[in-house]
Amino acid sequence: MAKKSKGNILVICAHSDDQVIGAGGALAKYAKEGYDIHTLIMSFGESVKPHFKREVISKIRVKESQRANKILGGKGLTFLGLKELKFEEDFARRNISENFKSLILKMNPVKIFTHSNDDAHPDHRATLRIVLKAYKRLRLTCELYTFEVWHLFNIKKRNKPKLVVDTTETFSKKIAALKAFKSQIKLSSFYNYFVLNNFFYFLIYIKDFMNGLKYKSRFAEVFYKIR
Ligand SMILES: [Zn+2]
Repeated sequence: MAKKSKGNILVICAHSDDQVIGAGGALAKYAKEGYDIHTLIMSFGESVKPHFKREVISKIRVKESQRANKILGGKGLTFLGLKELKFEEDFARRNISENFKSLILKMNPVKIFTHSNDDAHPDHRATLRIVLKAYKRLRLTCELYTFEVWHLFNIKKRNKPKLVVDTTETFSKKIAALKAFKSQIKLSSFYNYFVLNNFFYFLIYIKDFMNGLKYKSRFAEVFYKIR
């Protein structure tokens, strides 16, 4: 029997795997609890390599993201296809602000998850700025949380309001979803090194494990409430 939806949760991230790294366990848990998870991805993926055609990469990324999304139990997946490192310029140039805002309004989310301002990646911070602008213009009142991708340990924000999600039961889904992004093995020597050595998964394991230790569960993801 189909359960009635508890509401929409919107995730807005820069690249196709960010939401899995930053919030995969929590998203899988919310999906299990009956929320509809919608993901909005600003680009078509990460770092297009010069010897691969852009459309080819995009197609692979979209497929991988759909696979990962299915593993996590997510619903919709939308790609804006913005140019990497030029999100804000591209966003303005293509005049997609209205579409972006009406998409958010249509979804009427109970929670929004997006990137943190402390993240080292410029696309991640640009995504946050775009989200904050829309949040303000639309006079939204839903909870807005941030997650970190390339800032695995954070001591600065100890006193900010937090959302701690026990991801013990969904941690394995998060790792399975991450493994859906297999093309990274072929496309990037950086990832090649880390993925083959399982170092990347190890870092994520350590981060979620340390959070779990701190908040008395096996695994946990921690989010900061900024609105
Ligand atoms: Zn990213």
